[in-house]
Amino acid sequence: MTEEPLFQKLALVGMGLIGSSLARAARAHHAVERIAALDASPSVLARVRELRIADEADGDAAGALRDADLVILCTPVGALGAVAREIAPYLQRGAILSDVGSVKGSVVAQVAPHVPPGVRFVPAHPLAGTEFSGPDAGFATLFHNRWCLLTPLAGEDEAVEALAEFWKRLGARVETMTTEHHDLALAITSHLPHLIAYNIVGTADHLEKVTESEVIKFSASGFRDFTRIAASDPTMWRDVFLHNKAAVLEMLARFNADLSALQGLIERGDGDGLFDLFTRTRAIRRSVVEQGQDTAAPDFGRGALNEGGRPKSAISGDPPSTSPMRDPPPSIR
Ligand code: NAP
Repeated sequence: MTEEPLFQKLALVGMGLIGSSLARAARAHHAVERIAALDASPSVLARVRELRIADEADGDAAGALRDADLVILCTPVGALGAVAREIAPYLQRGAILSDVGSVKGSVVAQVAPHVPPGVRFVPAHPLAGTEFSGPDAGFATLFHNRWCLLTPLAGEDEAVEALAEFWKRLGARVETMTTEHHDLALAITSHLPHLIAYNIVGTADHLEKVTESEVIKFSASGFRDFTRIAASDPTMWRDVFLHNKAAVLEMLARFNADLSALQGLIERGDGDGLFDLFTRTRAIRRSVVEQGQDTAAPDFGRGALNEGGRPKSAISGDPPSTSPMRDPPPSIR
């Protein structure tokens, strides 16, 4: 039996990987009655129309937001303040306004001042993504079994509950926390790993003699996984580092201290020290897999994805998958 929709009209602003996945997932799970799509780029909207993943995608902000009881901003973090200011006059009273930005403190600071009275703002961040961008990269199962973190402001309990139900309908697990906690936790679990990947691939690139052939040729080893992360969207990640500066710098300082300690172990030939650390980190990997946040497959399950980062079974419009294939393992963002 099809479940009742939770919202009448979902308006999405920014139809890239996350926005287009939300459109597909909301439709596949009948979470909303209608979907309107907005994007700064006419070519993205044209593609959204071709893919038929929204009911309205004509670039008319007033029309898209008319009667929308749920509005989710899916642009890069650095654009969210300007987007909130632009759409504010069209938001309807009682609507829930949310976002998917990878940083929360800065998003609250940028968006909250533009939220009109009667509109309920609930910031959110789904920990789901891939290194691909744009409306073709999205897929309906992206949020299955992934966490969606809500960082509510005071006094919005009813809206928080409604938004949590929406994300659960899309297959996500939901937890609430403060913006500060979110930004610190994500700095170490997501932002720093990306910074390290960008750095190691950049360092290899500087070693021109090596990169000319060997880096590509022998990248079946650990380097290959770093190149995948380092292929992530430059605009999105530039904004993440600019907008989560304090937490990232704090984690980077800790990381540098631990790296120096590791360097000391190697210099002193302390095999036991190295062995102990590697044993602890191996156990952490096991618990990540046990908690369903990744697969134990040697290729991290990426054999189940096509070249655009979507499940091989996915087709345009993404009807709900009936294939027994387990959900793909998008990296946690
Ligand atoms: P994306 O694929 O690059 O999509 C972003 C879309 O927003 C693009 O179509 C972009 O158009 C559009 N856009 C940019 N500025 C805009 C504006 N002012 N008004 C309207 N549309 C605008 O990025 P994404 O990966 O979906 O990321 C979107 C958000 O999700 C970011 O805030 C990111 O932090 C968050 N997030 C991402 C991931 C991930 O792994 N990718 C995971 C969780 C959360 P143009 O292409 O023309 O610029």
